[in-house]
Amino acid sequence: MEITELLIRYGELSTKGKNKKKFLKKLYQNVVEKLKKFDQVSVGYDRDRMHVKLNGEDAESVIKELKEVFGIQSFSPVIRVDRSIEAAKEAVIELIKSSYTPGMSFKINTRRSDHTFLYDTNEINRFLGTAVEKTFDDIHVKMKNPTTTVRVEVRKRGFFISVETIKGLGGLPVGTGGTGMLMLSGGIDSPIAGYLSLRRGMRIEAIHFHSPPYTSPQALKKAKDLTEKLSHYADELTFIEVPFTEIQEQIKKLIPEEYSMTITRRMMLRLTDEIRKKRNGLAIINGESLGQVASQTLESMAAINEVTNTPVLRPLISMDKTDIIKIAEQIDTYELAIQPFEDCCTIFASNRPKTKPQLQKVKGFEKALDVETLMINAIEGITIQKISAETNERIEMEKEFTSLL
Ligand code: ATP
Ligand code: MG
Repeated sequence: MEITELLIRYGELSTKGKNKKKFLKKLYQNVVEKLKKFDQVSVGYDRDRMHVKLNGEDAESVIKELKEVFGIQSFSPVIRVDRSIEAAKEAVIELIKSSYTPGMSFKINTRRSDHTFLYDTNEINRFLGTAVEKTFDDIHVKMKNPTTTVRVEVRKRGFFISVETIKGLGGLPVGTGGTGMLMLSGGIDSPIAGYLSLRRGMRIEAIHFHSPPYTSPQALKKAKDLTEKLSHYADELTFIEVPFTEIQEQIKKLIPEEYSMTITRRMMLRLTDEIRKKRNGLAIINGESLGQVASQTLESMAAINEVTNTPVLRPLISMDKTDIIKIAEQIDTYELAIQPFEDCCTIFASNRPKTKPQLQKVKGFEKALDVETLMINAIEGITIQKISAETNERIEMEKEFTSLL
């Protein structure tokens, strides 16, 4: 007997009241999109559960994909059999056999969503439990913390039997939370800020500033590779590349060194906000974590943030570096992020940035720059691509984007 389907549980989604329908539909669409490479698979859902019918496709491969979908609380590989106790017994014995160890304990946990079935849950538990005890030596029923819990669901379509519950990613389906522009460097932090935003259902577009020839093609590739890692959780991501050389040269030339970092960040934020407006984003996301480096004091954040009223989300604000690194390892961005290709901030970094910049001074120094022209030049030089893990495609979309400006 083979796994016939995967049964998905929603978790937090089930508390969404009136919005639930919208959330479920989005989750359904995301699951369908994620599994589109499996020709035979079909997906259906109701208010309580989603069902992925394998129709002969390999369960392990499908499970691997589902582990990357936000909004799934847990899921179980299931054997579906006809609504008969005899068929259920056979499936339960089969499943126990696959994980049998002498001395093991088990319990049968039956739920009925269809109450028209002849027997109630206690009777079904008893029939199936007895069958297992008769079949295997050295196995016993245990209600508290058994080695294996066999879950049986009685539904109109049949009996659904499973012994394994796999943890899903949790969170909310991507696409239910509006769009945010992720300021993506090549570092450890910003990809995680992107991941956590996706986790709460946002769509993200990555914006990367680079300064050739001071920054290398490898640094740019690294940012794209990080975007590709994130696209596992979002189907396809937009990567927006902003030329930043002219701005950094001007800052280097015209701004006192201790204020260069603050003013560089203000320029980045202004540009990000400009792109956001044109692309209908609602928020900006960055990888700042309080106190991590000089630019990440509250004084500094306030001085930088002053250029916009747009919400700037900082998912990592209260996290320790070690916890950020843990997530980076889980989602496989860590090894990429520590590659030694410097991005534009590192190369132009001052040795003594102000940790408490004064806004008046910032504004005074900034007058030396022709902010407007610098911004127009940068925006004109933007390129945009779609990056997807699935196809490894990086489609140039320069023309389409230019027409949006
Ligand atoms: P990260 O690990 O994300 O690079 P960091 O600890 O190096 O962060 P900073 O250099 O102070 O911190 O950068 C703070 C945030 O500014 C980054 O998390 C990112 O959101 C944004 N940022 C920095 N450099 C760039 C860049 N070249 N392109 C786009 N965004 C950037
Ligand atoms: Mg960095």
